[in-house]
Amino acid sequence: MAAPSMPLQFASAEPAGAAEIAGAPVHLPRPSRLERPLPGDLGPRAARALDTLGLHTVGDLLEHLPRARGEARTIATLQRGETATLLVEVRTITSKPVRRRGMKPRVEATVADHTGSTRVSFFNQPWLVQRYPPATRLLLTVRTDPQGRISVTAHAPTDLHVAAEAQVAQYPASEGIDSTRILALVQEHRDAIADTLEPLPAAIRAQERLPDRPAALSALHFPGSEGDPEGGRRRLAFDELLLTQLALLRRRARRERAAKAPPLDAQRTLTERWLTTGLPFALTDDQANALADIDQDLARRHPMQRLLMGEVGSGKTVIALFALLRAVEQGWQGALMAPTETLAEQHFATIQALMPGEAVPAALLTGSTTAARRADVLGKLASGELSLVVGTHALIEPDVRFARLGVAVVDEQHRFGVRQRAALDAKGPADPGGGDRLTPHVLHMTATPIPRTLALVQYGDLEQTVLKQLPRGRQPIETYVASGERERTRAYERIREELRAGRQAFVVCPLVEESEALQAKAARAEFERLRDSEFKDFRVVLMHGQLRPREKQEAMAAFAAGGADVLVATSVIEVGIDVPNATVMLVEDAERYGISQLHQLRGRIGRGRHPSLCLLFGAKDSARLKALAAHRDGFELAQIDLRLRKEGELIGGVRQHGLQQFRIAQLPDDELLLDRARRRAEAILHADPELERPEHALLAHALDAAYGPAATAAVAA
Ligand code: ADP
Ligand code: MG
Repeated sequence: MAAPSMPLQFASAEPAGAAEIAGAPVHLPRPSRLERPLPGDLGPRAARALDTLGLHTVGDLLEHLPRARGEARTIATLQRGETATLLVEVRTITSKPVRRRGMKPRVEATVADHTGSTRVSFFNQPWLVQRYPPATRLLLTVRTDPQGRISVTAHAPTDLHVAAEAQVAQYPASEGIDSTRILALVQEHRDAIADTLEPLPAAIRAQERLPDRPAALSALHFPGSEGDPEGGRRRLAFDELLLTQLALLRRRARRERAAKAPPLDAQRTLTERWLTTGLPFALTDDQANALADIDQDLARRHPMQRLLMGEVGSGKTVIALFALLRAVEQGWQGALMAPTETLAEQHFATIQALMPGEAVPAALLTGSTTAARRADVLGKLASGELSLVVGTHALIEPDVRFARLGVAVVDEQHRFGVRQRAALDAKGPADPGGGDRLTPHVLHMTATPIPRTLALVQYGDLEQTVLKQLPRGRQPIETYVASGERERTRAYERIREELRAGRQAFVVCPLVEESEALQAKAARAEFERLRDSEFKDFRVVLMHGQLRPREKQEAMAAFAAGGADVLVATSVIEVGIDVPNATVMLVEDAERYGISQLHQLRGRIGRGRHPSLCLLFGAKDSARLKALAAHRDGFELAQIDLRLRKEGELIGGVRQHGLQQFRIAQLPDDELLLDRARRRAEAILHADPELERPEHALLAHALDAAYGPAATAAVAA
């Protein structure tokens, strides 16, 4: 890794959304010793290297943490042809006279550790005789050539003890400066570690049983001699996690104080009748709990900010509709925003099917709504005649005005940006009491579960409700990984059996990330092939992102109504499509999709009364496909995904967003530490919401330095 890990920070100009908070570097005001520039006498290459690593001051250097610890090698175990770090003591040292012109001046030394001694040479540095007198302890990076001769590539004095199994910190290095040289620099400035400020109040440090920050830094830089490096790492990780949680929770608290929402605390009327007599099924316990959470939120005077994280097929739409109807029955309006037209249309259809008997005036508004229809819808939203609207980004265009928007639901919320969510917030009504505009209650939904640890970090400023249970009577989905011509032939035969039994099937074409046009073309070719061969006795329709909205609607409507048997599609069917009679899915080139995408795709089947079958075409030894075949639980799959990605990251060295947001903390491994940091942040803000007490001054400083006062000032936007 060439560059040091730079934690993400807020772009300070715009309000940060839930997912934008990442690991925070701990910045504190620096006393003079830490502000000193690093010495310039290291030579131009090393100076450039330090610059590349972002190390400009002593403070930067001391915060440049080792990536690992290694044992210093011993002289006895040195192999020919290798490069190693030795921890040795000088026994003798002499300068060799230059006998011929053009020869390099050379210093020869005998150095020893507890396993033996050896002779080493230094070239072009005659002054070392004075600098390293006998008994000087040295860290040497040496290279042995195939003949066993040892040359020194880096050297530095050290006060580390030359002892058995000495642990030496290993630093992220760069072309021009190696880890040994960095360690030597750290040693040179180790006294300045004492100047490092301690952001944690003493009481908290004691209760959490954490070493102070200087001690933690020392333990990491000097493992072995300065205490427990893992303890040090945990201390620094705690700081990082605590700052993140403070930022998230303070933002939530500020928003709660700043924004007023419509009061929706009246008794259930329409919704009560709907829940008890209007629904064709009984709610799952998880669904019932979600309704209770939402009811509580709506009864408060500040806007709901709840994330509903639901397993595929767990029944989120009912929850969304409930929230919307709670607004409607109290004389307010509800809006549901989805990221694609297909999804908006699907939601609109589902909602109409689920709607109570009593008429609730509702409309659909998307990019392909005709101008006349749009004008009509906008007029009725502005007058309040329409109670409920479902749509895409079209809902947040500037000319869309609501008479009394009370509740907004944002589906697949991670597909919307911060600005779009803010635009929705701004559609709230004027305050009847004459104050600022009211902010609607917002329910965010996602069908992409992430492990709890990541959720705490990414959505730590939202209340969270999880739907894990699937409705009773859900049929199993058998999932197989298939490859080769014989299995393909069998797969088509199995699909035809299902079709003959009256069921329907999805065929999902390969993902072509580079070009939607190419992907559409491939899907069309596959559609024509299947229509004319394997499924020539059946009705086959095509669906991809480049079709005209009309064509998409027709294909979807035909499939949903049972007028088509096979839907050949690209991944546009990934989210939200609900056709309970569809029982088979075949995914081509499944390895091109990620785990959660495949889980989403597969969630399109297994939604009705019949058992379902999912056939993933791809390599049988693919870890991802095997995981899909073995598990149906999205949360479990998310954990596996995280683990596989972490392994991939270790192997491939590529940083993946969302996994490695922290410089020091490791998720999910540091889960307990995260919980402690979360609880601690809650307690701190409970006692001192704006961190104004003297004992929190340094914490407040670190928080503002990491996340910027702008980000926190803008939370109410
Ligand atoms: P998702 O969470 O994936 O969006 P949906 O809201 O689309 O799930 O629900 C999936 C299907 O399950 C729909 O047909 C819906 O009507 C049905 N459903 C929802 N809740 C229940 C329940 N408690 N019992 C039976 N069926 C339910
Ligand atoms: Mg859904």
